[in-house]
Amino acid sequence: MNCDIRSLSYEELAAETESLGYPRFRAAQIFSWLHNKTVISFDEMTDLSKPVREQLKEKYTLQNCETETKLVSKIDGTVKYLFKLHDGEFVESVVMKYKYGCSICISTQVGCKMGCKFCASAIGGFVRNMTPGEMLSEIYTAQRDLNVKINHIVLMGTGEPLDNFDNVVKFLGLITDEKGQNISMRHVSLSTCGVVPKIYELADKKLGLTLSVSLHAPNNVIRSLSMPINNKYDIDELLDACKYYTANTGRRISFEYAMIKDLNDSDECARELAQRLSGMLCHVNLIPVNSVRERSYKKSSVDRQKRFIDILAAKGITATVRRTLGSDINASCGQLRASKRNSG
Ligand code: SAH
Repeated sequence: MNCDIRSLSYEELAAETESLGYPRFRAAQIFSWLHNKTVISFDEMTDLSKPVREQLKEKYTLQNCETETKLVSKIDGTVKYLFKLHDGEFVESVVMKYKYGCSICISTQVGCKMGCKFCASAIGGFVRNMTPGEMLSEIYTAQRDLNVKINHIVLMGTGEPLDNFDNVVKFLGLITDEKGQNISMRHVSLSTCGVVPKIYELADKKLGLTLSVSLHAPNNVIRSLSMPINNKYDIDELLDACKYYTANTGRRISFEYAMIKDLNDSDECARELAQRLSGMLCHVNLIPVNSVRERSYKKSSVDRQKRFIDILAAKGITATVRRTLGSDINASCGQLRASKRNSG
């Protein structure tokens, strides 16, 4: 299959254009069409001659996201896209508007292998990894459609980013490239369910992005009930990796904790969590669990959330309840794709 030209780093693109015998400036020209003007076809590269465009078409592809469904929240303007990929697969992205700008939550895989019991993305299993170019296309397509500049990225859509490590790292290089979108690594968050060896690898790259860790439980018994990854790498191993990440990068860890009624939301759970996290540079993000049609999990009450936060705070751990955006459009990732698959 032809190579996706949007997935090439600047250096790779320069080597390719050199091997085609083009002058040096061609690589800069093409890179700018791809990553500044974010074109979706070679014919839009109007300062290239027709023969050059034809040659590029023969040798490369552009793996674009096409908008299959777009939902806009009447409450807060959050936009959710269901994108169709070149092979007919679907992924979701969500654009959220904040005071400081626009943030996008993107998918990194089609489906997911991790099998977390509360997660809609796990239903239907894993299909394939996404390429760096496809991840970029989620952003570029939304940006073009909404006519906004997206300046924050969260890798929290469908998929486990650390299970598609090389493509994700390449994507990060491209989206932060100053010759392209030039998004600051400080404005990127990557969320993982806890693929421990890859957390070490990421830490060693010292990229300066924020690591979010989906913890969701204060101990191994509860965590293993809903997160199969915990049987491979348990909480102690995971927290050791998080400490290493902080020591190596100076960045605090953001722990995600979906509050599930009667499973992980008791006072005892809060105390145990506080003890586990004591001394770490971290923040806890409480998420009222989203009910997924195929699952029976229920949200904790608002009182429970408050009580949980108070217990953590008393032990010196800061925690906040994550603001729910786009609740009228089912904005949490995975649900639109799951309903598309069900409808056939
Ligand atoms: N695989 C990565 C990123 C994708 S999931 C990870 O596990 O972190 C993004 C976040 O949404 C994770 O914190 C995940 O645990 C959480 N999540 C999944 N299903 C959820 C649900 N039904 N309610 C609340 N949070 C959920």
